[in-house]
Amino acid sequence: MVEKLIDHEKQPNRFDTPQTFLVVDDEPRARESLVKLLRHKWPDIVEAEDGEQAIELIGQRRFSLIILDLNMPKKSGDQVLAYIRDHRITTPVIVISGETSINKVTEAVRLGVYDIFRKPFNFDELEHSIHNALDKMRIEEEKAQIQNQLEHSERLHRYMVDNSPDLIYILNLNGEFTFVNDSVMRLLGYEKRDLIGHHYSEFIADEDRMKAEFLFNERRRSSRSNRTIELRLKCNPANPAKPFEVASRPIELNSMGIYSVDAADDERVGAYQGTYGVARDISMRKKAEKLIRYQAYHDLLTKLPNRAMLLDRLDLAIKQARRSDESLIIMFLDLDRFKLINDSFGHVVGDQLLVEVAERLKHEIRNGDTLARLGGDEFMLLLPQPTSREQAERVAQKLIASLQRPFYLRGREVYVNVSIGLAEFPADSDDLNSLIQKADMAMYEVKSTGKNGYAFFNDKLEHAASEKISIESGLRNAIKNNEFEIYYQPQINTETRRIVGVEALLRWNHPRLGLRSPSYFIEQAEESRIIEQLSEWVLNRVAEDLFHNQIFIDSGITVSINLSATDIRKKEFPENLVSFTESHGIAPGRLEIEITENMFMGDIQACIHKLQVLSNKGISIAIDDFGTGYSSLNYLRELPVHTVKIDYSFVSEIERSKKGAALVAAIIGMAQGLGINIIAEGVESEGQSQYLEGLGCPVMQGFLFSKPSNKTVFLAAVAKQHKQSPDTVHA
Ligand code: C2E
Ligand code: MG
Ligand code: MG
Repeated sequence: MVEKLIDHEKQPNRFDTPQTFLVVDDEPRARESLVKLLRHKWPDIVEAEDGEQAIELIGQRRFSLIILDLNMPKKSGDQVLAYIRDHRITTPVIVISGETSINKVTEAVRLGVYDIFRKPFNFDELEHSIHNALDKMRIEEEKAQIQNQLEHSERLHRYMVDNSPDLIYILNLNGEFTFVNDSVMRLLGYEKRDLIGHHYSEFIADEDRMKAEFLFNERRRSSRSNRTIELRLKCNPANPAKPFEVASRPIELNSMGIYSVDAADDERVGAYQGTYGVARDISMRKKAEKLIRYQAYHDLLTKLPNRAMLLDRLDLAIKQARRSDESLIIMFLDLDRFKLINDSFGHVVGDQLLVEVAERLKHEIRNGDTLARLGGDEFMLLLPQPTSREQAERVAQKLIASLQRPFYLRGREVYVNVSIGLAEFPADSDDLNSLIQKADMAMYEVKSTGKNGYAFFNDKLEHAASEKISIESGLRNAIKNNEFEIYYQPQINTETRRIVGVEALLRWNHPRLGLRSPSYFIEQAEESRIIEQLSEWVLNRVAEDLFHNQIFIDSGITVSINLSATDIRKKEFPENLVSFTESHGIAPGRLEIEITENMFMGDIQACIHKLQVLSNKGISIAIDDFGTGYSSLNYLRELPVHTVKIDYSFVSEIERSKKGAALVAAIIGMAQGLGINIIAEGVESEGQSQYLEGLGCPVMQGFLFSKPSNKTVFLAAVAKQHKQSPDTVHA
């Protein structure tokens, strides 16, 4: 469309081309003498000897002037004139004729001839008339061209105005619309006629009316300078074709006064006539600004407030609490083993879990509380109103309980636990940063003593928590400095009371803190991948500790090794383990690996395949802490499992509750039914032992029989057993 508009302007001016005359007369002599005279001035002349030939030539090309005889054979001059009129040809025609009848002359005038000469004629007069005709023609053509240009320019401007993405408007003196462009429909859903004649204030959002009024009044009073303000315009609520998601649209409006111009002095401002201007849609910009503001204060994944917002609110809450002499409590939440889920299922699923966790947590809190995501799997809850420690504990319990139900990720049940640390203002600290730090310490205390629980900060933690930071670097040095050790805990045959197996348990002989259990460091070891080196170290140490001892080699005692999910996920894991047994000359049947249920998350097929490789080689697979993890019984069918280890938490319930006892009975019954070995863990009392024996549990492990001990103590026990009855070693 635009190209078409612009094309017009390129049309050449007709007067740039040479002028061609057509002389029509059936009398050759008269025609020739006229042409001869004319050629002095206008050399380009075409002749026609009758009306018919003239019409043919006029149809073919355009002439600057036609000189025409009236009385001619075939077609008369009148017919030629009629042809010219009918075809809207604007070329001026001068008639030279012997015809004198008044009728003929009037007819010729009616048909639009420019001038009429009677033969014989005065050539000077004719020449004069020709000049006039050509002048008139030129002026008319110029006028037409200017007209054409004006129309074109008007079309172009209208096109630009109507296709402008902005709303362009004119208001009259009274503030009523006298013009709006087409954009009004797209922007506000109104027809032009809905606005024309109406006062602008009808379309301004109520809250912005004053602002608009001020702007337009200012135009009325003062200079021509234009000014831009932001306003909201009402959208048409009754337009079904344009369902606006908003009732009003933010725009940036500029307005200029229209003033009459004083003819005498162009610069002087005359009377105010109205206002014109442009309203630009700024919804997108507003949206972007809103998003940026939102992003600065929210976690985009869970839509929870982020650290910045939390710090802001906490700062405020502390100030208020200080002023009113009240307390407030914060909670630091950290998901247990979230990394495992991330590694097993990938980040997309990990993210989905975080979103669902956030949803559940949000559900448990009150309106004024702030739950924020600090990053990763860390959340923080601020209870700003005065809350007793007991109330806070109840909230913590509720939060823990809310995550107890399984999550469904990729069609699998996944369980997450959370560790919560609490700190109170001002009892624990009256400073924002150290309050957070103390909640963090308390959280870490929960982690290191057993996960999925909550604890308040106490002064004793101060020291312990500062260790956390040094755990990772401490671990790296620990391997180098030989600070690890293996403790061995015997597994006892219920009937014969002989040692038939042993579990290798890792200990860290910390230079300052003394002997530390895996719960203190294993998660950090997994997160930092130090666990891979550590597992390798454990295997080699076990081989060294036990399989260099002839009595042990002869004993037939199996060794259980605990592996972590990280180990199993390694591609070459089964091959490495097999070559480990080969290189140390360990019979595969002497080795059992312990894995927990949560290691089966993620790619179960790969897991099955790996364990199958081991199983085929004769290495046993035990499920550790059975019943505490992602308890889908399905994997017992799918995986090559040889042993289940009933968790300490079930065993300890045997004497405490009927339900606990029944649960243990059920697990044993099920394992027996599936032909799977059973080891009861954490057996501490005779009562538990007798109950388990009664159910036919063949192997037990626990403080009742022996605590984990170092290799010397353990090997002495094996030697003692060997001395007593060497022949019955192979249980
Ligand atoms: P686990 O494999 O379930 O080990 C049994 C835990 O119960 C051991 O804790 C053991 O000391 C403790 N225990 C044994 N008998 C009794 C009892 O009668 N009563 C009570 N209350 N507890 C008993 P420990 O040594 O602290 O190990 C904790 C966990 O750390 C282990 O649980 C295991 O999952 C992991 N772990 C231990 N060694 C290693 C290792 O070398 N590598 C890996 N990846 N994990 C290990
Ligand atoms: Mg174990
Ligand atoms: Mg266990």
